[in-house]
Amino acid sequence: MIAESAHCSYQDIREAIRALCAEFPDDYHRRIDEARGYPEAFVDALTKAGWLAAMIPTEYGGSGLGLAEATVVMEEINRSGGNSGACHGQMYNMGTLLRHGSEAQKRLYLPKIANGEWRLQSMGVTEPSTGTDTTKIKTTAVKRGDRYVVNGQKVWISRVQHSDWMILLARTTPLAEVTRKSEGMSIFMVDLRQAEKSGMTVRPIPNMVNHETNELFFENLEIPEENLIGQEGLGFKYILDGLNAERTLIAAECIGDGYWFIDRVSKYVGERVVFGRPIGQNQGVQFPIAESYIEVEAANLMRWQACSLFDAHQPCGAQANMAKYLAAKASWEAANACIQFHGGFGFANEYDVERKFRETRLYQVAPISTNLILSYIAEHVLGMPRSF
Ligand SMILES: Cc1cc2nc3c(=O)[nH]c(=O)nc-3n(C[C@H](O)[C@H](O)[C@H](O)COP(=O)(O)OP(=O)(O)OC[C@H]3O[C@@H](n4cnc5c(N)ncnc54)[C@H](O)[C@@H]3O)c2cc1C
Repeated sequence: MIAESAHCSYQDIREAIRALCAEFPDDYHRRIDEARGYPEAFVDALTKAGWLAAMIPTEYGGSGLGLAEATVVMEEINRSGGNSGACHGQMYNMGTLLRHGSEAQKRLYLPKIANGEWRLQSMGVTEPSTGTDTTKIKTTAVKRGDRYVVNGQKVWISRVQHSDWMILLARTTPLAEVTRKSEGMSIFMVDLRQAEKSGMTVRPIPNMVNHETNELFFENLEIPEENLIGQEGLGFKYILDGLNAERTLIAAECIGDGYWFIDRVSKYVGERVVFGRPIGQNQGVQFPIAESYIEVEAANLMRWQACSLFDAHQPCGAQANMAKYLAAKASWEAANACIQFHGGFGFANEYDVERKFRETRLYQVAPISTNLILSYIAEHVLGMPRSF
């Protein structure tokens, strides 16, 4: 366990994660991807070693580390050839509970999440008919006695089949009855296994990445009132709070991917001989790789800025969004250079390049698309008129 490691240096964390990841080499992740499976053994090993409880305070059984340390964990997983997408939900979902849950809720959930008994890997926000326009969500939670009754639908909800709990966003006051469209939504802890037996249907969505993600249908799903997190009606604000951590963690994953692509391709172009010399001797080959390295390094600077502001409890929306934007772009450029200079071999499963290429592409779209980040910066940082 890493409980005693509140003073862990980043280098200690990197070394420990690298050692753990070395037990799960490329062919492990490749086999899981080909089988469209879930990396159970890998996620269990991370959980047992305490890494997925990194941000849970020590009083609830976690390691009490900051976002900066948590991003190092995620970065190293991706840098080693794995995919944090299988388990990153736990890092940021837990933050919502920690910041907005009651003391009784924290005592109930956090120690069990920290010791691995429960997984809190899922967050249900996106809906098929409203997409990014979250305040228009149609899933409702209506109070009846000591329960909320949920009806509606969600889409792209990840890790539902490999999580015990999900944080669900639903409308508790109709949009027409609130002053601001961001009001009137609430968040709930949903016991997933219980819900599957009583009003929630899960339909997996086969997709380009090996990412376990699902459509969810709610028909009179009853949630006990004690599962409401924080105050009724403030759920959207709570979810937004957690998104800065999510964006920064995903920026670090993209940075890990970026270094993975650059390491692989730099080595490959030094070894692959065509026209009697290594292809890496050609500047046409060198420059795109060098350029993507510069971009990954630059994105990394913004990632550390977002981490230090978040850990100091300072506003960090702009930095978290910019870090995610820069890192997702940089990893995608690195992925393109990597696949390009592997030539045909880039498309062969055994090189893992095509797998990582698919994995890193997701982050231009989810959990927030690049356009929506640009819109955030234009309006909230530069003060331009609202588009929507
Ligand atoms: C593999 C995967 C896993 C996911 N996991 C989860 C999860 O666990 N929980 C969850 O709640 N959601 C999850 N999502 C959903 C994800 O957050 C959304 O797909 C994402 O936010 C984009 O929403 P959308 O798909 O509805 O796209 P839309 O909102 O339909 O947008 C489509 C495109 O149009 C652009 N666009 C839309 N409006 C504007 C505008 N005003 N100006 C400019 N461009 C615009 C967007 O940038 C985007 O590129 C996941 C998605 C995927 C693919």
